[in-house]
Amino acid sequence: KNLSIKDALTSLYNRRFFDEQLSIEIDRATRYNTSLSLMMIDIDFFKNYNDKNGHIEGDSLLTIISKIFKMNCRSSDFVCRYGGEEFAIILPDASSENAYAVAEKIRKKVFENIFRFEEKQPNKKVTISIGIASFPADSNTKEDLKLCADKALYSSKENGRNMVTLYKNLK
Ligand code: GH3
Ligand code: MG
Ligand code: MG
Repeated sequence: KNLSIKDALTSLYNRRFFDEQLSIEIDRATRYNTSLSLMMIDIDFFKNYNDKNGHIEGDSLLTIISKIFKMNCRSSDFVCRYGGEEFAIILPDASSENAYAVAEKIRKKVFENIFRFEEKQPNKKVTISIGIASFPADSNTKEDLKLCADKALYSSKENGRNMVTLYKNLK
């Protein structure tokens, strides 16, 4: 079972699991009238890290960052590897304010951590950008909730990276 739901490199949940679990959690939140937040995370200038240090070092960075995510989330949260250097965290029972606090904690932990070769990054540090959308406040469908979190993430990138953005604060 583990092999079918976990990512081999990072041991985080994979994208297929993420999609199924997000549906389950939205159903649950609807039934119990609770909120849920979705966090999308992308490593800043990761292509540069790979190009300068090689793919093996890039993989090692993905593994270390994944551990930082796990260590700073609750056991009831679902930390997933969404794509190459993109991660998604489902936070059941969390408002956007709750999720923002978790996201800021994670962002700071990554910023403060000393990564190998990070001096070769454009900002001399390995950093992450985060976008957050919440159900049902920002959106009441799964696909749209993902789009909203993505838009918030894009805004974090546009505004200088190493940043957390709430979808509800856009525009
Ligand atoms: P931005 O700050 O805008 O996010 O820039 P970026 O360089 O992180 O973004 P971009 O999407 O251009 O680069 C992502 C890179 O991630 C491209 C690819 O080389 C790398 N990548 C994707 N998956 C893996 C993986 O599994 N292992 C390694 N080592 N690199 C990966
Ligand atoms: Mg990316
Ligand atoms: Mg990136």
